[in-house]
Amino acid sequence: MAFVDGRSACPGLFYATPAQDGMLSRIRLPGGHLTVPQCQAIGQIADRAGIQSVQVTNRANLQLRSLQALDSEMLEQLRAAKLAAPIAEVDALRNIMTSPIAGLDPQEQLDPRPLVVAWDNYLCRHPELARLSAKFSVCFDGGGSLAVWHRPNDIALVVDPEADLAGDAEAAIALRLYVSRGDRGESPVQTGISIRPQDSLALLSALAAVYLQGVIGLRNHTPQQRAPRLRQVIQQQGWDSFLQAVLQAVEQQLGHRLLCSQSPCPSASLPVLSQAAPMGVHPQRQPGLSYCGVGLPLGQLTIVQLRGLTAIATSYGSKSLRLTPWQNLLIPDIPDRFVSTVQAEVEQLGLPHSADHLWRGLVACTGSPGCAASATDTKGDALALATALASRLQLDCPINIHFTGCEKSCAQHHPSDITCLGIRIDSPQAAAYRISVGGYSVERELYVIDAASLPSTLEQMLRIYQHYRSQPTESFSEFVGHYEIDQLRQLFQDDEITELTK
Ligand code: SF4
Repeated sequence: MAFVDGRSACPGLFYATPAQDGMLSRIRLPGGHLTVPQCQAIGQIADRAGIQSVQVTNRANLQLRSLQALDSEMLEQLRAAKLAAPIAEVDALRNIMTSPIAGLDPQEQLDPRPLVVAWDNYLCRHPELARLSAKFSVCFDGGGSLAVWHRPNDIALVVDPEADLAGDAEAAIALRLYVSRGDRGESPVQTGISIRPQDSLALLSALAAVYLQGVIGLRNHTPQQRAPRLRQVIQQQGWDSFLQAVLQAVEQQLGHRLLCSQSPCPSASLPVLSQAAPMGVHPQRQPGLSYCGVGLPLGQLTIVQLRGLTAIATSYGSKSLRLTPWQNLLIPDIPDRFVSTVQAEVEQLGLPHSADHLWRGLVACTGSPGCAASATDTKGDALALATALASRLQLDCPINIHFTGCEKSCAQHHPSDITCLGIRIDSPQAAAYRISVGGYSVERELYVIDAASLPSTLEQMLRIYQHYRSQPTESFSEFVGHYEIDQLRQLFQDDEITELTK
């Protein structure tokens, strides 16, 4: 097994990273798509490596943990199943993202899956692109009902309903280019460029070429250092000259002027969007077929469950599964007559599919012991919370609760309904959490509590919310947005309500 080479802080299949419980490796799955033969190959690898479970990550990768060895024979087996890039270095690039219901969504304007495949194939054919930053990440958004462009990406191509590609009467749909150029965590901003979908590959390869050229001229950067982020190159070149260089490079590749709209876009940057994991059964754009969203406890999937889901997808679906950035998965293409059978078989695997299940909105970063930076066992504490609340509280709409072991917030960058930020307190020596609402900020911090008090504290907060919200459709974030933080502290201590609703 190869180990991380300093080029990337992110683990890949060929660049496992050490964690406290063994090596950690990631299988990169463009768009989160998995076929049944690929599921079978993962099951065989897990058996040989002696691991009992895998994890779905927030970029819809599959993560293998507690590894002692992933030998060259296993890597070849993964390559044969198209689970590993033919070029090891390219495998370290961040997963390509798109909506997990791409091609299934009745509201979608463009099926982006061919664009995902085309960009992945392009990466695999160009070894020179191994010099890209591992975080040179791309997202395609077809304008459907379940968007993923709010996830951190350096580049997003998003359906642009406003675009006017003058000169191409047949271009009914265009994609607008967004690029990340600001500080960490800021959404990509619009470039003013919209293109025909068929020009996406030329545009992305031009962006890659301009980035690589820019790295050569980057002040204070040596080839031995980790590849810089795209935003560093843009900051050095200047925004306008960067975009000009990209346009020139595209036109050189295409051999003609790029048909592109540079009309102003209503929003300057991609707005933050908070959506819950897709759960439950939903009709597809294909008549008579549905997909079923299945909850995984913090992305955890045992090999037994993986095999069970593989069997379900084989018997009733299209021999495929889709992993989502919400760390759950979907079984697509279920004929109507099999829906109830699929639901029953998923339940037999110990996995929920109900749209109001707590797993739907519960997110935790790796935490300790897997991450040395973590102050707390985020996953263990989140699981304990979910177990406690499951028997005491009935949710009727998704609540996004985010556990993070430090302020880096690897698992979720956008604001959550409730954030639990792990901290170490010295006296007594124990794990504790800062609880805030509407994303972590000092201004919206409610309490600092020890880990053992989490279930009772959050139960109380959720009961008060359910009792006082103006209507059942009011989200938790909307509800807390009506109050100052001192008012919320008082409200959440309403003992009378606790008694009434128990
Ligand atoms: S958020 Fe912090 S503690 Fe959690 S995995 Fe990332 S670096 Fe580790």
